[in-house]
Amino acid sequence: MRRRFWIGIAAVALIAVGSVVAAVLVYLDDHRDFERVQRGEAMRAAHQMEAVAGLSVDQLASAAAFFKAEDDLSRHEFQVYARTLIRQGALSGAAYIPRVPASKRGRYERTHGIAILERFALLRFRRSGPRPDYFPITYVTAERERRRRALGYDLGQDPERVLYLRRARDSGRAASSPVISLLIGGRGINVFQPVYRDGAPIATRAQRRRALAGFAAGSFRIGDLAAAATEAVGDGDELRLQVAGDTVYGSGDSLDGGAAMPLRIADRTWTLTVKDPGGPSPSLPVALAAMGISLAALLGSLILAWGRTERMQELERQASQDALTGLGNRRRFERDLAAAMARSRRDRSTGALLMLDLDRFKQVNDSQGHPAGDRLIAEVAEVLRRRTRESDTLARLGGDEFAVILPRCSREEAVLAAEAIAREVRAHRSQAAPAAVTVSIGVAIFGEDPRTGVATVVSEADAAMYAAKDEGRDGVRVFDPAAVRQNASGQS
Ligand code: GH3
Ligand code: MG
Repeated sequence: MRRRFWIGIAAVALIAVGSVVAAVLVYLDDHRDFERVQRGEAMRAAHQMEAVAGLSVDQLASAAAFFKAEDDLSRHEFQVYARTLIRQGALSGAAYIPRVPASKRGRYERTHGIAILERFALLRFRRSGPRPDYFPITYVTAERERRRRALGYDLGQDPERVLYLRRARDSGRAASSPVISLLIGGRGINVFQPVYRDGAPIATRAQRRRALAGFAAGSFRIGDLAAAATEAVGDGDELRLQVAGDTVYGSGDSLDGGAAMPLRIADRTWTLTVKDPGGPSPSLPVALAAMGISLAALLGSLILAWGRTERMQELERQASQDALTGLGNRRRFERDLAAAMARSRRDRSTGALLMLDLDRFKQVNDSQGHPAGDRLIAEVAEVLRRRTRESDTLARLGGDEFAVILPRCSREEAVLAAEAIAREVRAHRSQAAPAAVTVSIGVAIFGEDPRTGVATVVSEADAAMYAAKDEGRDGVRVFDPAAVRQNASGQS
């Protein structure tokens, strides 16, 4: 029983642990799926933003080629070209920036009708002597035009931009500024594409510096770039753009758990982070775990209750069993006799109670020792088991005294059964007792008078048994209230 109990408890623990493990696995799987979807969205958004910006950067390169071929670009020609640039890509503004040598500044201002603005000269470049050349914005076009502010603006003096002009000039490739305030309004980046004089050698940096004719410049508003990415992600997703370590779009808070993807615009790497604020739904794993744990709790309490019942039954059995012989003890016997008598009253049958006591058992104890006496008692119990039917009830009442209840049994049948038992005991050979063992049996019949109680039947059987003792032992006596009738027994 103990083993079954512990197997049950182990099974319950297994169900509980199993359901929690299953819940965790489902959750992890959901989490992986969720992360895969999120990464897919981030990747799509990054590709889209990169493609849209890349298209415009490529267009700046073709603009640079156009400006190079058109030696003296007119305002009209620029406008026509730049408007198509702005319409097609992510550009918010485009500008033509020539290189104007210091010696030609005055003439350039007159022919193009602009003043070259030296805003930062005092702050930054005065110390380095006269400027060799200028990089004014000569033509500009933008979605929302703020040309007046931009025209003539000398980018060669703007500390926010000059580095990237030089980088573009020296590398021969498009260079991007960090996110700054754009001259056309709003915040974003400038991308400068160098334009070299037609036919001039540009293999080395020194050659490129000499050959520089100006720049095709583009302005990307950060909002327009982000819009390209936003279109590719799901509603409600949080999106963040970072460049050069700064967050330039979206939440400045951490997007822990979001998917980050790199993307390139001109010569800069951006990081786009997409986060689905929902996260994987925990409802299925929670339901799984809750179901498993409730089932385990239910089974556990059932098993505990069952274990308690089993234990009680075991204690009950132990309390009503004789330890030496395994037969019922006196307590059990009294219950069994009451039940047998009740049954016989119900079906109006008679039954018999046999009271047995070994003859001169003390001598066995005295001569062979108490353990031998114990063995003999156990052997006699075996003889009784052999000699009785399934429906009979056996008990050891204490010492060398036994009882046998025979239900549905007449007086004659009871006497025959008692005699058979006496014979069997007499015939039994035991190592515990060298001499033959005999037994005195008293028989009482119940069911003839339905008013007779348990105590009466017991005392009648006792009386009959003592009568048998008195008669010289090794015999069977039947109690008869009218006249104690002696039955011939296997007296030798
Ligand atoms: P009688 O023929 O009159 O029955 O004589 P007896 O010697 O059998 O006497 P009685 O039945 O009165 O005594 C039974 C003895 O059995 C008394 C006691 O010493 C002994 N006894 C009681 N319980 C046990 C037991 O569990 N084991 C053993 N070995 N002896 C027991
Ligand atoms: Mg005895």
